[in-house]
Amino acid sequence: MAHQLHFVLFPLMSPGHFIPIVDMAKLLAQHGPTVTIITTPLIAARFRHTIDRAAASGLPLRLLDFTFPSTEVGLPNGCETLETVTSQDLLKKFYVALHMLQQPFEQLLERLEPKPTCMIVDKYLPWAAETARKFRIPRILFDVMSCFYLLCFHTLHVSEVHESVTASEPFVLPNFPDTIVLTKSQLPGLFNPGSLDAVRLKEFRERISVSESEAYGIVLNTFEELEHRYVDEIRKVKGQKIWCIGPLSLCNKDSSDKAQRGDMASIDEIECLKWLDEQEPGSVIYACLGSISRLCPPQLVELGLGLELSKRPFIWVIRGDEKAEEVYKWIEEDGFEERVKGRGLIIRGWAPQVLILDHPAVGAFLTHCGWNSTLEGVCAGVPMVTWPICAEQFINEKLVEAVLETGVSVGAEAVVSLFDEDKRGVVVKREAVRNAVEKVMGGGEAAEEKRKRARELGEMAKRAVEDGGSSSLNVKLLIQDMMEQANNMTPTEDH
Ligand code: UDP
Repeated sequence: MAHQLHFVLFPLMSPGHFIPIVDMAKLLAQHGPTVTIITTPLIAARFRHTIDRAAASGLPLRLLDFTFPSTEVGLPNGCETLETVTSQDLLKKFYVALHMLQQPFEQLLERLEPKPTCMIVDKYLPWAAETARKFRIPRILFDVMSCFYLLCFHTLHVSEVHESVTASEPFVLPNFPDTIVLTKSQLPGLFNPGSLDAVRLKEFRERISVSESEAYGIVLNTFEELEHRYVDEIRKVKGQKIWCIGPLSLCNKDSSDKAQRGDMASIDEIECLKWLDEQEPGSVIYACLGSISRLCPPQLVELGLGLELSKRPFIWVIRGDEKAEEVYKWIEEDGFEERVKGRGLIIRGWAPQVLILDHPAVGAFLTHCGWNSTLEGVCAGVPMVTWPICAEQFINEKLVEAVLETGVSVGAEAVVSLFDEDKRGVVVKREAVRNAVEKVMGGGEAAEEKRKRARELGEMAKRAVEDGGSSSLNVKLLIQDMMEQANNMTPTEDH
């Protein structure tokens, strides 16, 4: 009997994880299968409108939620996504809460109609391996990283090259397809014993790696042409099925979809587009450092001064956490906004990033190199000014700078612990920001070459998701594979 395909998607509670999962849900539903996203209430509220709109247009898509156990683990009310986790103590509690999600998730699965035929679950929810066994359905991991990062991770793990160097001593990744120079202080917590994340991550990483090896396959938000050498290598290394189906952000076709990825932009979409329409093509630098990384207020102020110094139009997104108040205050008292009036747009809170990047007025992206942002920059066909802060971002910076050759670094040197505020003060000076902006937006052959490469990559990204493109083909292969699995499935007594 042919089964009706029903994908259940469960993201980690962090924008860099749930935004691409929602895009993936839309993409899969566009190909026919029923798709259910399961998440927690605050995230569901952010996407309700988007999903309802997609469902009203006929896509077999729905969004279900269950309570996040914040109070049970002692988290403050509303602390339901990593954006609101601001200390190691909260992080520990957040991990405990994540672990408690298995039972409510399974209870919801039990009641779902049609019966789920497969699930795509974030890599950071390792308990889902057991759920998949219970329900006897294939579990596919969603990994939010690039293949380049996965291969770097693997190489560091097996070579242990970072073990024999000091924090700031540059080393070359051995047996790697390209020459990549790193320092230990740029590596994520696991490889960086000085980092506060190291201990906690080791045990967690071990659980993830077991659950990873048991997964049926891995879905990645990337496209094969962007990093084909790494895709091939990572397939060999993992020995698992890997489907590169990105860039997922490109499934948002109209401006409402592009603006409302999370339904909470702090600026009116029309106002934002109007401001961009008034700027010259390719003239604006868009600066945004993602959803969870934290630079200290003096460093953020210096970034603003660097944008001012660049003498170019800019959009500066300042994330609305409690520390941002200090920066907002400085903006008022210093007269910054007044000085840059007309050429500087400040967004306090959440920006409609994909909508902005897609506008022809944007000429460069100052990014923290989170993988989603990096890929969104690639799609927009713009060069990047790179300012990695934590986690895997320094490694993504290497991809942009050394492999794709579309970026210039501001010169940040070391990771900051993911959830503790950066207390280092001003490490990157305003002149460094101005100089990096100039190197991607200014005159000269090198800058022009970067812009040309970026435009080519942008075209390549769009072709990958078009009919006949590699990602479009991979989505079809994934669905076909899941259909075969569903048809081979034996009905179980308990489910
Ligand atoms: N994002 C956005 N508006 C903002 C900040 C972030 O739309 O003001 C989106 C961005 O487009 C990306 C995601 O949030 O899709 C951030 O993911 P990324 O992997 O770049 O970084 P993270 O936030 O996980 O560090």
